[in-house]
Amino acid sequence: MTKLPQTKGVRRMELGKQVETIFPDMVAWRRHLHMNPELSYREEKTSRFVAEVLESIGIEVRTGVGGHGIVGLLRGAKPGPTVALRADMDALPIQDEKTVPYKSQVPGVMHACGHDGHTAALLGAARLLAGGKDEMQGNAVFLFQPAEEVCPGGAKAMIADGALDGVDVIYGVHLWTPFAAGGIHTAAGPVMAAPDEFVIRIKGKGGHGALPHQTVDSIVVGAHLIVNLQTIVSRSVNPADPCVVSIGMLHAGTGFNVISETCVLSGTVRTFDPDVKRQIRGRIEAIAETTCAMFGAACDIDYIDGYPAVVNDANEARRCKDVAANLFGEASVRPLPLIMAGEDFAYYLQIKPGCFIFVGAGNEEKGATAPHHHPQFDIDEDAMKQSAALLAGLCLDYQASHAAAANR
Ligand code: MN
Repeated sequence: MTKLPQTKGVRRMELGKQVETIFPDMVAWRRHLHMNPELSYREEKTSRFVAEVLESIGIEVRTGVGGHGIVGLLRGAKPGPTVALRADMDALPIQDEKTVPYKSQVPGVMHACGHDGHTAALLGAARLLAGGKDEMQGNAVFLFQPAEEVCPGGAKAMIADGALDGVDVIYGVHLWTPFAAGGIHTAAGPVMAAPDEFVIRIKGKGGHGALPHQTVDSIVVGAHLIVNLQTIVSRSVNPADPCVVSIGMLHAGTGFNVISETCVLSGTVRTFDPDVKRQIRGRIEAIAETTCAMFGAACDIDYIDGYPAVVNDANEARRCKDVAANLFGEASVRPLPLIMAGEDFAYYLQIKPGCFIFVGAGNEEKGATAPHHHPQFDIDEDAMKQSAALLAGLCLDYQASHAAAANR
């Protein structure tokens, strides 16, 4: 499937060389976006910028796809399959605390997850492929997606707006600072969790702190509930099934001598298997209701489904490893442990085969050591070269292998 001995040496040299020539542009694009970050669902200027760059390299652009999404289309001169490549464009509500010339110019908003690098790298891939469109055996579609960080997310909206129409396969990358630059990490099957949210509102009976016998203390109920919820992962779910239940918020009380009538807690559930997710949801509801009943309190529970788990196609994960080995050497291909964070790339993979890939972007020498969503977050920009070459290489490899199959 992925063995193309007659072309792969040439392609490797060409993509490797070409990506060097466009690297200064990718850095400029990324730094422009880094200085001008926009929050989820508000990516107006980012979207306009992307459309302008795409048009300047001769790519057909459709704007306003599922919000501020952009779909770029590059038609190859020869017939063949259509390959979609995706980047996300949104930033986060975090104050940039770096001291670099390209620091965010927007107070309280920052590209702290590398989506600026994803966008610049996909623009780079578009330019690489546009340069070879006379030889291209099929089309390439470039999906620039808004609102990855906030549910319901931009992927679903773009799909509803036709972003995957006519697409045969899809690839996306995530720059990842916990992984050292130089590594390409992917795996077949589930790779990122389904992230859900829940809110539990406990209603007790308020009163005077000195007269607890006349009240139902919602804080005491909440405290028991938090402890009881810990038994879901430790005592109810099969230990072989990876999952998380975390309480991230707890709000109660107005004064030191007041028994709080209400206590609200909320948290997140992370799972890979829909059956485990159902089991955990059922346990949360049962434990909340019975814990409240034990103290004479009442509760209501909202369980909000987040993105599904990201599940890579086995054949396409294999192709990613082969193409990465071909482009960057065998040593660049590294394993991907399960990641409990979520990604709305999951929606594309529910409809089309494809693969999500982590590109190592951590580098101590370049100050790229902070975790994602941290005020000091930065990437090793060299990882954008790998991302662009890998995405372009995947497109060409998929098309060449399908053209070869059609000619047999
Ligand atoms: Mn991200």
